[in-house]
Amino acid sequence: MYKIQSAKLLKDVMGNYFRGMGDTSKKMAWCTSVGPAELLRSFGFEVHFPENHGALLGATRTANDFIPEATKLGYSNDICSYLTADLGSYLKKETPMTEHYGLKGAPKPDLIVYSTNQCREVQDWFCYFAKELNVPVVGIVPPRHLDEVTREVIDDVATQYKNMIPACEKASGKKFDIDKFRETLRLSKEATELWKQVLFTAKASPAPISFFDATIHMGPIVVLRGTQVAKDYYGTLLKELSENVTKGVGFLEKEKSRLYWDGMPIWGKLRPLSELFMQNNSAIVASTYCNSWVFDAFDEKNPFESSAKAYTEIFINRSDRAKEKILKGLFRDFKIDGIIYHDAKTCFNNSNSNFGMPQRLKEETGVPFLIIEGDLCDLRFYSEGQSVTKMETFIEQIERQKVLA
Ligand code: SF4
Repeated sequence: MYKIQSAKLLKDVMGNYFRGMGDTSKKMAWCTSVGPAELLRSFGFEVHFPENHGALLGATRTANDFIPEATKLGYSNDICSYLTADLGSYLKKETPMTEHYGLKGAPKPDLIVYSTNQCREVQDWFCYFAKELNVPVVGIVPPRHLDEVTREVIDDVATQYKNMIPACEKASGKKFDIDKFRETLRLSKEATELWKQVLFTAKASPAPISFFDATIHMGPIVVLRGTQVAKDYYGTLLKELSENVTKGVGFLEKEKSRLYWDGMPIWGKLRPLSELFMQNNSAIVASTYCNSWVFDAFDEKNPFESSAKAYTEIFINRSDRAKEKILKGLFRDFKIDGIIYHDAKTCFNNSNSNFGMPQRLKEETGVPFLIIEGDLCDLRFYSEGQSVTKMETFIEQIERQKVLA
């Protein structure tokens, strides 16, 4: 059976990261998942990502134990289930990090930092904790849903980055060092380039990495950006996957169809979904979600401007027109036969099926689509039987169309 051997190393890398959170001698910052992690690391902060904890609660299927705690406090069941699960876990004083990594809970922060480049929900979430834990909070609020990322936008966001420095200096006890920032950004750039190459190995058929594998292997690019550890990990993973491409080995022997997954993963159902597609010889080879940590614009020579550009031009922060252009390129590059849109009920920010995009893209590219309803963490929104039937029918239709073509 096909296995990615680097998964053993990944377990160590992620285990060390989480266990490192128990070291209270280090200054700690909380950051949003596509927030300014490199700037924080340049001050020597360890960085905790609450969304990553949300994903862990989803993947361990414990989120639904915690969401009601947040609901009791007035946080609606319909808002981001990363937020409600993470908040509920804090209120209930329970987390799977205890069993897996010996941590009692999320590490106490010295500084909380968010960017609303992905959604405004993170602002409410992080400000709740800033008040609750009596910790300073700073935010970056870039313009949203952009067609183009203009010079004015980059300058605005770069200024917001620079304005964070006094808070970082105060919380870390260290003066800002531009050379450290450049070095952290260089490491982050090298890691993200390797991650992109990892994802792009799936252009090959058979593909050596699926969307479901990638949601696991993306851990270091989310939580360890700006470290040598992340860069080394993706060097190792890329070497393995490239060798598999050369040998003609992939997770399926023969791909009957190649699909694209748009939107959030359904964290609590990764394994059954992966098995479902494998059994149907259908390969999900690319996704919006895993591509979200590819930051082409990083440039250590212009650390503020290039960070501002890289984190503002992310897919989730673009207009539908810009998103459709990106998707069309990916359909072509990965030879996509069909697209599945996950309409995540608690994240409209990362669900792209509600304003006519599937229909427009089908008209322009001919690529058929399926929309399934579900959620990132809250499994009450996912009807498994109904969704499995829809997905199997969709795969059959694609195969029939390919035979007729
Ligand atoms: S983008 Fe969606 S899933 Fe992520 S924090 Fe915002 S609302 Fe939650």
